[in-house]
Amino acid sequence: MKQLKEHVFYTPNLVNIGVVYTSHSTVLIDSGIDESVVKKLCRELEKPVKFVINTHSHADHCGGNLYLRKHFSAKILAPRIESHIIEDPILEPFYLFGASPPEQLRTRFLMAKPCTVDETLEEGPLQLEDVTLNILPLAGHSVNQIGVAVDNVFFCGDAFFSESTIEKHRIFVVYDVKKFLETLDLLSRSDYDLYVPSHGEVTGDIKDLLAINRKAVEDVIERILKLLKTPLTTENLLKELLDAFNVRVENFVQLVLYRSTVHAYLSYLLRENMIETVFKENVLLWKIRA
Ligand SMILES: [Zn+2]
Repeated sequence: MKQLKEHVFYTPNLVNIGVVYTSHSTVLIDSGIDESVVKKLCRELEKPVKFVINTHSHADHCGGNLYLRKHFSAKILAPRIESHIIEDPILEPFYLFGASPPEQLRTRFLMAKPCTVDETLEEGPLQLEDVTLNILPLAGHSVNQIGVAVDNVFFCGDAFFSESTIEKHRIFVVYDVKKFLETLDLLSRSDYDLYVPSHGEVTGDIKDLLAINRKAVEDVIERILKLLKTPLTTENLLKELLDAFNVRVENFVQLVLYRSTVHAYLSYLLRENMIETVFKENVLLWKIRA
């Protein structure tokens, strides 16, 4: 566990977990992909975990919820919409696939153990015992992601990605491109002492990283517009895009995540009037606007 401020810590891990001490208990920010990390973490804590805040519903952020609820009667707090997916994780592969998902999509990477959410988080101050946290909207990567600010430290979920993650994946998961960009703007106007992303290093200066994230989104947009000079189906556009960025998809889970992200871009470009749809012989094609 690494200390950031007097009462604020985090555990560096595949998913960084935030730790905030109140006078009587511990608040965790996210809970990892399963119980393994929080189980170990709880042995190091000075006070029992009474609250868990989930930044969003992706399985690697809420997989430890059930353990914390069962063993510490921890209260689970999550933003609207995300809370439904945390309670019924089948919704994740359901929306990615669009129907009853096949077994290959019912994996721990897409489905955490289901857990009841006790309270829905809204934007603004959140008083937990003697500590005031601030909940900020960070939608874009997921439908209704939030960030948590406390003691001038900002736990920002998956609002942006590290340079190495971007280099590796090139096209990172986005649910709403416009909101993702607005969230980058909100972050660039902020001035916290420290930023704790869920994946990657804690840093005091995120300006360069935000620019890299914005550029990555713009690169995908530019490539899509170039490709859609020729009308393409979603599947063909996805293939062309993955080839262009040298990405190799190796399983069904990766494929649906990339496909849903491509849908996010198409939906954005459609709303921005930059592309249009054409129906031809029972096929939906996307093309740039004439
Ligand atoms: Zn995520």
